[in-house]
Amino acid sequence: MPSHRDLTFDNGFAALPDTFYSRVQATPVPDPYLVCHSPDALDLLGLDADAIRHPELIETLAGNRVLPGMDPVAALYAGHQFGHYVPQLGDGRAILLGEVRNAAGEGWEVQLKGAGRTPYSRGGDGRAVLRSSIREFLCSEAMHALGIPTTRALCIVGSDRPVYREDAETAALVTRLAPSFVRFGSFEVFYYRNQVEPIKHLADYVIARYYPELATLADPYPEFLRLVTLRTAELMAQWQAVGFSHGVMNTDNMSILGLTLDYGPFGFLDAFDPGYICNHSDTGGRYAFDQQPDVAAWNITKLAQALVPLMSVETASGAIGEYPQVFGKAYLERMAAKFGLPPGGDTSGLYPQGAAGRGCKDTKVSTTTLIMEALQLLAQNRVDYTLFLRRLCDFDSSTGASNTPLRDCFLDRAGFDAWASRYAAALRQLGSSDVARRQAMRAANPKYILRNHLAEIAIRRAADERDYSEVNRLHALLTRPFDEQPEYEAYAAEPPDWARKIEVSCSS
Ligand code: AMP
Ligand code: MG
Repeated sequence: MPSHRDLTFDNGFAALPDTFYSRVQATPVPDPYLVCHSPDALDLLGLDADAIRHPELIETLAGNRVLPGMDPVAALYAGHQFGHYVPQLGDGRAILLGEVRNAAGEGWEVQLKGAGRTPYSRGGDGRAVLRSSIREFLCSEAMHALGIPTTRALCIVGSDRPVYREDAETAALVTRLAPSFVRFGSFEVFYYRNQVEPIKHLADYVIARYYPELATLADPYPEFLRLVTLRTAELMAQWQAVGFSHGVMNTDNMSILGLTLDYGPFGFLDAFDPGYICNHSDTGGRYAFDQQPDVAAWNITKLAQALVPLMSVETASGAIGEYPQVFGKAYLERMAAKFGLPPGGDTSGLYPQGAAGRGCKDTKVSTTTLIMEALQLLAQNRVDYTLFLRRLCDFDSSTGASNTPLRDCFLDRAGFDAWASRYAAALRQLGSSDVARRQAMRAANPKYILRNHLAEIAIRRAADERDYSEVNRLHALLTRPFDEQPEYEAYAAEPPDWARKIEVSCSS
């Protein structure tokens, strides 16, 4: 198996003019050690577990040395944060080491998060703490295993160097991988500076590398904007269907490739609560769970605006115009699969899920209606979203079946019974076989998600006892989220009472 010495670097982003970044050096940390790694992510670089344990590679991923061929830079970007334009952000603590070209010809940018100060650090220390690094590591790899586009996490390297947040903690660096870390904000920065040339240059770079199918078009920019819009709509459908809340959907955290990017105070829904706010700094609920599809749409208008120097306003608004339909269709398809129902039907009114209690105009039993009614019941009864859907896989559609474990999720048993009889009738009408449907639904409804309390237990053990076994266990478990793993039944349960107090903020 190759070692880090065999990596081939092909640094596309660093080969752009330095308008787009600053050349930087990571700030070393003392005595780095490997906390955890992702075998799947290592594989993307053609490396294995032996390679990642090599002290030279650990030193590299701690920011203490660079390998031949690396060309470290910190990217410049701006962004709308909580609705307000911030003219200069940039990688304040992330450093792009270089882009590895793997044996399959794929380019993977290798980025250290928490590598020390850069010209874009503003008041920050350029560091990340172990706690937030574990969350990012676990969630990146869990999202990937769920089939949701995301940046990847190769490993975490820790150091006992103190990092001061609310309390003194220790430093860690996550090595992230992505084809590109370019964000909506990477374009916005030049729009607000009235610099058209870099907008065009960056768009050409992104199109040539990541949207090569557009490269031959005489005017590729509107289609580029359209494809980013479609990918973002698909991503939102996936987040909403799985119950993922990002927490900081600023335009600087929106990937030009439609990847989930920058894991901070994210959270998965436990009890179904459309208005769930996972970031306790988000007092206004701007990034509440049910706002995400609309926020993404708003963010896309900011990207469109930044690309207006390359096209007319009318063209730009046409290019993003399909968002609501594409999101609605993608979301309904995913939800239909989760409920074992055929997709199709009216998507209007399916979203926002804040429609709980608003009532449903549609009287005939349709997929949309059944899903909406179920979501309303889940919200009213504060039923665990993941647990409900997984139990629904075992639904018995025969007349008079009581479906006890599922029914037990609800306080309002009569409400559940009424819904269940409509659902059962619809399934019978469709000729849906319970056995075949169970199998299909289990592939659409994960048993295991990264619940906050699970991450918290792993973090406490890592931080307090230097015991990383729970991080590794959780990582392994979450790489097979759809499989029954009987020895880990407890990891599929609702959060315990103590976990309701966990608060996650931007401080990381
Ligand atoms: P975020 O919302 O966490 O993605 O970060 C927003 C901006 O703040 C980005 O430009 C980050 O690079 C920067 N940032 C966050 N934390 C730090 C830190 N500890 N030191 C320097 N910059 C930071
Ligand atoms: Mg960010």
